[in-house]
Amino acid sequence: MVVLTGPPGSGKTHVIFQEVCQILAAGRSDFRFLVPSATMAEHIRNRLAREGHVFRPGLIQTFSKFIEELTPGRRQASGGAFQAIVDQALESVSPAGYTPVADLDGFRRVLANLIEELSLGGCDSATIRTAPGGEEIAGVYRDVENRLARRGLTTRAGRLTATLSGVESNGLPGLSAVYFDGFSSFSNLEIRLLEALAKTVNLTITLPDSPGSATTLERLLSLGFQLRTLTRRRPEAAVVVVAAPDITSEAEEVARRILAHHAEGVHFREMGVVLRSEKPYVPLLEATFERFGIPARFYFSRPLSGHPVVQFLTGGIDAALGGWEHEALLPVLRFGAAADPSLDRFEFKVRRNLPARGIVPLREMTRSGGIQHLLENLERLDSWRGAVLTPPEWERRIADLTGLVPLEAPRDGVSHNLAALWRSRTVVLRQFQSAVSDAACTFDPEQPVTLDAFWRVLKGVVRLSSLRVPDHRRDVVHVMDAIEARQWELRNAFVCGLLEKQFPRYHSENPLLSDESRELLNRSGFRFRTTADRQREEQFLFDVAVSRATAETVLSYPLRDPSGEDNLPSFLLSKYQAKVLSRDVRPQSGPPRSRPYSASTSISDSLLQEQLRGRHAVLRPTAVETFLQCPFRFFVRHTLKLDSAPAAPEKRLDALLKGIVVHTVMQRWHSSDGGMEIPSLVNAVVDEICSSEKVPDNFRREMARIEIVSALMKFTDMAEAPEGWKTSAEKAFELRLQGDVVVSGRIDRLDVAPDGRAIVFDYKYSGGKRLKRIMAGHESHRNVQVCLYLLAASRILGHEPAGMFYWSLKGDCRVDGWHVSLPDYKKIGTAITSGELMEMLEGSEAATLEAASEIRAGRITPTPDPEICRYCEFRDVCRARSVSKALAAGDAE
Ligand code: SF4
Repeated sequence: MVVLTGPPGSGKTHVIFQEVCQILAAGRSDFRFLVPSATMAEHIRNRLAREGHVFRPGLIQTFSKFIEELTPGRRQASGGAFQAIVDQALESVSPAGYTPVADLDGFRRVLANLIEELSLGGCDSATIRTAPGGEEIAGVYRDVENRLARRGLTTRAGRLTATLSGVESNGLPGLSAVYFDGFSSFSNLEIRLLEALAKTVNLTITLPDSPGSATTLERLLSLGFQLRTLTRRRPEAAVVVVAAPDITSEAEEVARRILAHHAEGVHFREMGVVLRSEKPYVPLLEATFERFGIPARFYFSRPLSGHPVVQFLTGGIDAALGGWEHEALLPVLRFGAAADPSLDRFEFKVRRNLPARGIVPLREMTRSGGIQHLLENLERLDSWRGAVLTPPEWERRIADLTGLVPLEAPRDGVSHNLAALWRSRTVVLRQFQSAVSDAACTFDPEQPVTLDAFWRVLKGVVRLSSLRVPDHRRDVVHVMDAIEARQWELRNAFVCGLLEKQFPRYHSENPLLSDESRELLNRSGFRFRTTADRQREEQFLFDVAVSRATAETVLSYPLRDPSGEDNLPSFLLSKYQAKVLSRDVRPQSGPPRSRPYSASTSISDSLLQEQLRGRHAVLRPTAVETFLQCPFRFFVRHTLKLDSAPAAPEKRLDALLKGIVVHTVMQRWHSSDGGMEIPSLVNAVVDEICSSEKVPDNFRREMARIEIVSALMKFTDMAEAPEGWKTSAEKAFELRLQGDVVVSGRIDRLDVAPDGRAIVFDYKYSGGKRLKRIMAGHESHRNVQVCLYLLAASRILGHEPAGMFYWSLKGDCRVDGWHVSLPDYKKIGTAITSGELMEMLEGSEAATLEAASEIRAGRITPTPDPEICRYCEFRDVCRARSVSKALAAGDAE
């Protein structure tokens, strides 16, 4: 029995690997190569396969799998099931000291982890009772032990104990050698098992030369293990430190360097990224690598609860228990009827009708067979709500639900992510069923329970279950955490996120079992890690990460956090400060695009152009303005008529709906010749529109009502037309410009003097700032609305153009525009000559004619402008690459 030790990069794994190669070359299979994780086992198997060995995969396995195989017939409580049992015990024992925090998920998790740690360390409930603060832990721990026994469940500690007694009595038939690699320490129970194994097989264990392994090493040496110390064999790689402006630039810098190495002939598989933990880098690197076209495999498990299949299944039961609230049901319907072509229309209908509940109203909203079928199946869950069944019956029923999951037939030519999603479905269904079974096993199988009670436990189990999607691609960049990296040798390694509190992480003292209690227990022969032990391990993990590469290691960190504050670089970097080559990343060269951006900005097909002519034979002034501001926005809004999803009820009273309220009030007020009281008119219109739009009656609605009344009261103070002038509102017109270009609309307000001079007003539910922008838009002919109104008043109604104004009906209620030096308007707007006014009208007419011609010619060029793009509802579908730049420029201003 040998223990191999040495610093990271000293080749401990290599020594074992060579021995295993010799055994396999001799045609033997009487050994086990045990590692801490399934991905490490897979990595070793792949390395052996690359050496040309053929072997049974089970020869290289995790320690957990090894003891599981040696203890058949024992069911180990999964993480979720164990947590459920700890929760039950906590509720039943209810220790007084835990009362204030007993309902907190975080506290329950810490308690479950501590009980697991104690049991693995060989410390039972009777022993922990004697430690300071141990009384209350012991009460719950004891109850957990009893509950596990009653349910026929065991823990990892129970399995280890059973394995130990099996090995002590029968040895390990058929095995002559066992290798342990990748572990940095062993618990008391594990060391007892190692001692037993050493008596029956050749045992070789690797341990890093680190403070965290010192106690384990001491124990193994005291048991008679021979010590073999290795020195570093891997050549020192060059080290570069990159300080990127922010985390996004840091990820892009890594991606660019990977592509540069790949272009020089380095395989993707020879490169890897090492992280201290999954967050915040994994989602960012996934998106960045996807954008740069870099194939990558992420050695991180995902939460099972985040998979769409599981969200569909859990969402269905949640919706049933919540009485079929439509908003909660929508994601379930989206997934379950994803292939149905009428789904979008149905969803919009449902959203418009929110809030609502019940399956029957939903069925009345669609005739689609697919959606009806799904709703029928979901309706079956109605009978579950009041049912009280035994846990095995719930297990059967819920497991049957997996039949509702639509399985899409795979096809070629899809992205890796989509293929992975398809591949994962079978794994997910299997794991969901196993979670249901885990939940069932925490109950008394004879005791009937409600769906609600069963569901609470099952959701907890699902929340704690993780998912690994099989990914067998060979030439990929490996992204892993520092613990996983221990067995890897890479040509180029990138270690990201070297910031204080990220790498190294800071560990706080366990709130339930203090360091003092741990040290006390350790003096009695136990081995529980203290905060200081965990902190020391951070240096070791950093040494592991830095020693993975043979050619180059890039250490990186972002200079600023997302809010622009300076970050504090990791103190682990101090020895490399001289290697900071540049504080800036290299200039942007842009990611290669798998689908090049199409520069096509017009529709050239003659048939389509004919359709455009038909569709836009008559134009509205607002549509003309949309085109003048951005042809692509016009195309999406007015040609394709794409609609965004209806807003949720609490968000419906937006600027658009308030604008409708204000315009309706104005229309009625004008028809009463200003005789109606504004407050009562606003109240009536707000109630009428809000109830037809199902806007909830809450403080927002009241705020909107108060705002509108206040603005319109200011308006009425200044609304009266000059002496002798006649006011009319909502004047419809259809104005033929040159050729067949027709503009139709409604003039919000038209004031006519006894001598035939006319001024027009357009009411806007917008503030003074926007009014200014609209005025400026008239000078560049991107806004034409009031000009077209005045042209209509002149050409159709025969009035002499005298002025045009915009009236802001919000806040201070301002009015601004142009007029031909009318004395009554000298305090508002800009006085201009008749000639200048006519020039403005002609300029707007020319701009409208040009817009009409370009619309019919199929021009759809996006023209980004920060002010327009910021509020554009089509930003998500806009192909203009410069939109984000335009927005950033707007922000900078
Ligand atoms: S985001 Fe900007 S460029 Fe794109 S369609 Fe909207 S307004 Fe036009």
